[in-house]
Amino acid sequence: QPQLTRSSLKGKQLHLIDVLSEYKKRQESEKPTINLVVIGHVDAGKSTLMGHLLFLLGHVSKRTMHKYETDSQKLGKASFLYAWILDETGEERNRGITMDIAQQQFETEHLKIHLLDAPGHRDFIPNMITGAAQADVAVLVVDATIGSFESGFESGGQTREHALLVRSLGVTQLVVAINKMDTVSWSRERFDEIVTKLKSFLKQGGYKEGDITYVPCSGMTGDNLTSTLTDSWYKGPSLAQSIDRFRPPPRPVEKPFRCCIADIFKGQGAGICVAGKIESGYVQSGETVLVVPANELTSVKTIFGGDDISAWAVAGDQVVLTLIGIDQTKLALGSVLCSPEAPVSITSLVRARIIIFNIELPITAGYPVIFHYQSVSEPAVIKKLLSQVSKTSGDVIRKKPRCLTKNSSAIVEIEISRPLSLELYSDCKDLGRFMLRYAGNTVAAGLIIKIL
Ligand code: GDP
Repeated sequence: QPQLTRSSLKGKQLHLIDVLSEYKKRQESEKPTINLVVIGHVDAGKSTLMGHLLFLLGHVSKRTMHKYETDSQKLGKASFLYAWILDETGEERNRGITMDIAQQQFETEHLKIHLLDAPGHRDFIPNMITGAAQADVAVLVVDATIGSFESGFESGGQTREHALLVRSLGVTQLVVAINKMDTVSWSRERFDEIVTKLKSFLKQGGYKEGDITYVPCSGMTGDNLTSTLTDSWYKGPSLAQSIDRFRPPPRPVEKPFRCCIADIFKGQGAGICVAGKIESGYVQSGETVLVVPANELTSVKTIFGGDDISAWAVAGDQVVLTLIGIDQTKLALGSVLCSPEAPVSITSLVRARIIIFNIELPITAGYPVIFHYQSVSEPAVIKKLLSQVSKTSGDVIRKKPRCLTKNSSAIVEIEISRPLSLELYSDCKDLGRFMLRYAGNTVAAGLIIKIL
């Protein structure tokens, strides 16, 4: 491979096809894709529900189902059958929990859904953040069983934390699956009680009522997953129909190309494969892109989108790119591929607006955190507390506060232990937001408002 340099690049960018007009054609002929994350308390039944849904929609072959069935019976955990559809490795099966983010595609009447499965276990919240950071919409699963909804909804339960987390990561549309309705004999009163509690909580958390659908269902029996209930008080849509009503978010295809690397592996042929979601702009095979922060140019040999090789891909697409002319040491998780004409910034110091969750100890200047950004987590410090602001209007309430307490919002300066490729939230939503964790808990979510 000839060494690519910025000067040799001038005038050599291969624009073989007009991607924007190809994209318009694709939009007319194909269903739009939406990235969906499943959230909720551990044991709410997320894996069972989504596994069963995929099965009913015909995305799991009979052979695979049979294998899962015999495997799960052998282990005496037949009830985990549907959950296993989402779990890939034997280790996860034996533990009976979805450990990593299993990715699956499925289709509803009008949409192609890219499922980012988020495990509910506390230890795995960092993974859930990776999933949530890529999500456009979410299904929040709650367990209707008496006592279980309550414990998931209490402070410390993940129902609240997950719902606020995805909201602060930019998710505005929710389907709330009120699951395990079989355990409460499909009680209308129970359903209404849960809806009332969630409605006021979600409204406070910044969701609009019209963007939320509440669906009673049972992941175990499969009721109201794909076919609507007959002879029931519930006359609304099934889970699949509710998912189908999600509005695809606008894709910033005309902004500069950005793709954040979520995985790196060796492909079969020459080159190195990287996986990620295109956050903005588009890319085509043969194109030269810049890797930041390494500041190295590389050439995109092939693009895999979905299950096929494609000549191009645009914002919103999940892709695997084969890169050539670059050393693997120059690529890291969280690196950003971008257009050399409009590169992304590299910085370790940012000003951000943060929303603080339900924390015990107040945050003071010098507070150490783990900065979670796309698929990266780096030690960082909240260096300065600039002002406390109103959660809703953003107006300054107090300048230079000495500490920040739970459920408040503030403007702060954050210093990260190493430079990362970051962007302003106003330029690129996905590359401009992050989460802060401390001692195993998510303490805040934030948006970058200035690169310092
Ligand atoms: P996750 O941790 O949220 O992914 O939950 P799982 O899907 O692993 O389910 C947790 C437990 O609840 C398992 O024992 C399931 O068999 C059970 N479960 C899941 N869905 C239902 C349901 O609709 N009804 C009943 N009765 N049990 C369910």
